[in-house]
Amino acid sequence: MPHGMMKIFMRRRSHAAAGPSKQPTSISTNRRRHRTANSYGEFPPGSVLPSERKLAEQLGVNRSTVILAYAELRALGIIESRTGSGTRVSKHKWGAMPKHTPNWHRYVEGGSFLPNVPFLRRIREALQQDKTLIDFASGELGADISPVEEINTLIAENHYTEYLGYDNPQGFAPLREALVSYLSQYRGIPATESSILITSGSQQSLYLITQCLLAPGDAVAIEDPSYCYSLPMFQSAGLRLFRLPVDRSGVRSEDVRTLYKKHRIKMIFTNPNYQNPTGRVLDDKRRIELLDVASELGLPIVEDDPYSLTAYDGTPPIPLKSIDPIGSVIYIGSFSKIAASGLRVGWMVAPHPVVERLADARQQMDFGLSVVPQKVAAQFLKSPYFQPHLDRLRINLQYKRDLLIETLRKELADLVSFSIPQGGMHLWCKIIPELDDNKLLEEAIRNGVVFVPGSVYGSDSGYVRFTYGRPKADDIAAGISKFASSLRAVLNSSG
Ligand code: PMP
Repeated sequence: MPHGMMKIFMRRRSHAAAGPSKQPTSISTNRRRHRTANSYGEFPPGSVLPSERKLAEQLGVNRSTVILAYAELRALGIIESRTGSGTRVSKHKWGAMPKHTPNWHRYVEGGSFLPNVPFLRRIREALQQDKTLIDFASGELGADISPVEEINTLIAENHYTEYLGYDNPQGFAPLREALVSYLSQYRGIPATESSILITSGSQQSLYLITQCLLAPGDAVAIEDPSYCYSLPMFQSAGLRLFRLPVDRSGVRSEDVRTLYKKHRIKMIFTNPNYQNPTGRVLDDKRRIELLDVASELGLPIVEDDPYSLTAYDGTPPIPLKSIDPIGSVIYIGSFSKIAASGLRVGWMVAPHPVVERLADARQQMDFGLSVVPQKVAAQFLKSPYFQPHLDRLRINLQYKRDLLIETLRKELADLVSFSIPQGGMHLWCKIIPELDDNKLLEEAIRNGVVFVPGSVYGSDSGYVRFTYGRPKADDIAAGISKFASSLRAVLNSSG
């Protein structure tokens, strides 16, 4: 549906409302305008149109004007409205009109890059539509525990007057320098600037690895459950995923060996510290065993480690990378869970040929990262604000975790079970009776709260992931009460 078309409709209506215009628009002028507006093709047949309220806001007109315009378009069969699924451009009317309009829907569905998981799309849509939802779904820090002021101060104190040209494909050199000290001081990882690739977050690191170091048909081992199952990028890359069960102490090396024998897995993906979604930590003994089996089989390990600095007792688990004697580990870090997810700054430490290859690929995709957030990140890491921020963050996350647990115990003791995370921001909660994930999510959204159904993260059904970094401390108890009434309502309705 051409955006301009609606404007024209509305303009026409307002002219009509104001009485006959002195210079009536001729049919040919209207046609020309119509054609120009139509040529946008911004909303092809079947597209969802903005809600009446949103469109009125965007165009700066009264909502009743949009309602009238939509009614007119509906009467002409150009658009269709259905309760629950909004207003769409009619497939029939518009599909038949332009002779050479490409079938965008077929293109949209035809590419090899898969769409996001349906539950995650539903959650994103719900959060966009209702800003008052209490959010236990987004894996990030809320504004109350992010270093908002510190970063503002750094931006205000530093003038970004340097030349902003295309930068080094491996990332901004001063940030890589700052990361060399950070990795050594905080993670015990001896890195050099040349073994670091800056990325736009762990997600990009995973994307580059799956696209450039693996080929369609390759088998990989992924923890079960794991954040990775929420990322269709693995399937988009044509990889075959095999599950490595996570128990109380993490993954077991025997399972790696079995997968290797059966499927010739080519890589292991692990998130050993305060894992997303279980919150678990890989046991020390198992860390050594995992490294041993990887070196015995010549397998690379991808260690995704965004949460370790949130360790509530102040002593983060040792990364595999820091005790990797032969360079089997690609280490992935990020600013998202310890500072600000919107800064989009992450890093990877890997053997130099890997860093070079991935930097070259990334340069082909987008010519490199924006320098400004990298500069802010470098300054924050080196600033006197960083350590005090981490100290506060740990206390605040632990406080939010405690509120969550207290309310779950009070409201749902008979219906849930969970183990208590000692870091990170995820609580993996088993719902004791069997129930339909979809019904529970929809009921929760209706009641004003959102979470992620556990099935998004792998094979375990009947789980819920509560992420407590994002909601305000004051909203946690209310959010869990809303969840509790949703759960009871769904259980009652299914008898
Ligand atoms: N890995 C894990 C384990 C995560 O939990 C997340 C975020 N939910 C990411 C990677 C992606 O984080 P980002 O790209 O923001 O660094």
